[in-house]
Amino acid sequence: MNTLHVKEILEKKEIKPSLHRIKIFEYLADNIMSHPTVDMIYQDILKDIPTLSKTTIYNTLKTFVENKIVRVITIDENEVRFDVKIDAHAHMKCVKCNSLYNVDVDPELFSKFFEENNKNKHKIFETHIYLRGICDKCLNKTEI
Ligand SMILES: [Zn+2]
Ligand SMILES: [Zn+2]
Repeated sequence: MNTLHVKEILEKKEIKPSLHRIKIFEYLADNIMSHPTVDMIYQDILKDIPTLSKTTIYNTLKTFVENKIVRVITIDENEVRFDVKIDAHAHMKCVKCNSLYNVDVDPELFSKFFEENNKNKHKIFETHIYLRGICDKCLNKTEI
């Protein structure tokens, strides 16, 4: 994702587009399929910005999550991952290789679910669907 576009996203949310914030958002957008952890972000960005601290990453991600431009994924109780893809989708964790996959979900199913529930007293604004299984790559490996 290019820097100008990232700046736009941040400014729209009135987040000051500092170098660190731009870098971290860019990293998440460029690694959308890997759903990185704080450690992964830290290790990879440190090469470009040696002054970066883990605290900065935590604080930046907190700001992003509060502004709903990043989502927290806690499919595994031992690790917290981050996702910039915020449209309706589910996550599948492969129990063999530990990879986390995006799984498409019919958007109508989501909106129907929201509508049904919001008719009652609950006000639902966020949904997480976590699936566990064996990914196609690992399935193909075991077949050989
Ligand atoms: Zn796998
Ligand atoms: Zn995702």
